Amino acid sequence: MQSKKLEKDKQINWSIYFCIGYSKLPIHKLLKELRNRFDLKWLRISMSYHKFPNLGQMFQSDLTTQLTTNLESLDFMDLPCNCIARTKVNGKCLFNGECQKSMVVYKAKCKLCKMLCIGNTQQKLKTRINQHLTEVCTLVNKNKTSDTFAKYFAAHYTNKKGKLTTGEARKMMEVSIEWQGKAISCNKSFGKMNCSLCMKERLIILQLSKKDPASIINSSNEFYGACRHKPRFHRYTTTTCPSVLMTNASSERVRPKLTVSTPPVLPNNSLQVCVEIPNILGYTELDTV
Ligand SMILES: [Zn+2]
Ligand SMILES: [Zn+2]
Ligand SMILES: [Zn+2]
Repeated sequence: MQSKKLEKDKQINWSIYFCIGYSKLPIHKLLKELRNRFDLKWLRISMSYHKFPNLGQMFQSDLTTQLTTNLESLDFMDLPCNCIARTKVNGKCLFNGECQKSMVVYKAKCKLCKMLCIGNTQQKLKTRINQHLTEVCTLVNKNKTSDTFAKYFAAHYTNKKGKLTTGEARKMMEVSIEWQGKAISCNKSFGKMNCSLCMKERLIILQLSKKDPASIINSSNEFYGACRHKPRFHRYTTTTCPSVLMTNASSERVRPKLTVSTPPVLPNNSLQVCVEIPNILGYTELDTV
């Protein structure tokens, strides 16, 4: 067994990769030709494909980096824990004080059976977990069908007398953040094939299922399903726009000022102005009441 491993290590050490930017001939044909010409029959070739960014892409990415440095999205920024005593577990925040972070891939673990569930959210972590807990409760209390997460967690309460509360369900859960993305860059890929949040979730599911396939409860539709994230506009904490263009210092939502309607007060010594009404209809006198 060990000798096999050593052999494999040797093989890995001997593989060298070259990057070829452009070739007129199909690259595998060219390599075969070269190998035969120099009589290198022992050489084994494997290919790995990756795309080079072109100049346009490089400029674009540089511009985006420069525009988004020191920018933070007001709706997606990390906020300190604001858990109240009722939502805490044994006097502690369930999320180790990271309950108000968004754009995360999280791992929820059942304390009873040690099963794991990987999920992602663009909302605050706390909001998403609370949705999960409510789903578990509706499944236990009202027997409404829901996702795989709720099915696994509700399985422990099949013989439960009385109603399950979210507080009880929260106690059997352990939540940790596996990855957090940058809100501004993540938002750009939402709804697309290469959504960074969805991709990272898939990667983490893959890694964990390789390590311990029996402990993952994620179903295949989470892995193959389309992205459900919705791109949103950002409200930035700081703006880089020049002051000529932005008259308002902050990009915060502006509420209209309350206007109180008061009757116009005429000053006492106002001028008496006489206006002559043109005689359109042929009246010579104005009727007075
Ligand atoms: Zn908290
Ligand atoms: Zn369980
Ligand atoms: Zn997505």
